[in-house]
Amino acid sequence: MRRGVTLPFAVRRGWQEALNWIFPNDEDICRICTRPIHSRSGSVQAVKSSDSPAFLPQLSDALCPFCLQELQLCASAGRSEHIQLRLPGGRTVPVASCIQYDAFIRTLFRSFKYDGLMELAPFFGHLLVRRLHGDSLPHTDCIVPVPTTLERTRKRGYDHVQLLAAHLSSQTRQPIRRALVRLTDERGFTQSQSAKNAVERRRGLERVYTLNRQVPIRGCRILLIDDIATTGATLAACSEKLYLAGAQNVCALVVARVR
Ligand SMILES: [Zn+2]
Repeated sequence: MRRGVTLPFAVRRGWQEALNWIFPNDEDICRICTRPIHSRSGSVQAVKSSDSPAFLPQLSDALCPFCLQELQLCASAGRSEHIQLRLPGGRTVPVASCIQYDAFIRTLFRSFKYDGLMELAPFFGHLLVRRLHGDSLPHTDCIVPVPTTLERTRKRGYDHVQLLAAHLSSQTRQPIRRALVRLTDERGFTQSQSAKNAVERRRGLERVYTLNRQVPIRGCRILLIDDIATTGATLAACSEKLYLAGAQNVCALVVARVR
């Protein structure tokens, strides 16, 4: 799996792109709001005409001008937050988030995680990079993505958090260290976490994540990356594992935090 994308997904995507090139279709609809995209040349021109961020051209064939404009607004506005997670034993983990989790962002995440719209990764990555550069998070020397199960990765065709980590790594030159593994869903801890309270969830999550012993992180200052934080239980469980493995310091960065 290269850059977080599975081989079957990459082949399917390549085949689809080849078909689109051979049989161009101006009736395409936006993959966020289902409005017509209109002519491809029109949307590309709109993107090129403005002082556009790098993530927009990749999305101009998938989204309508309205959604592209909304993305630009989100990217320029943002609404960052900073909280401290308390771990058992007294340690704290600073958590920075980039943007408010509103209806539009929720729709974007649904398309990104469940509808195969992996072209949104550079947009979310752009938010993470901007937040990291403008934030007072402690200095770090490597990136650890919160892991996804292999089963989910195969189903989606890519590991969405790995894509975010790859974007961040390319911009910050910090290496990605896959120091954590998420166990399969077989034990039933992962699908219904939102229905549980924070204490139950933390207990369950302790058994969901495990250390990848092939990736030593002793003495590392780690930037833990995830897409969305809700109660913070996932970030806390992962941080505990990383400290157990000898990490010097852990701080976390997420795209959005649900309140
Ligand atoms: Zn749209």
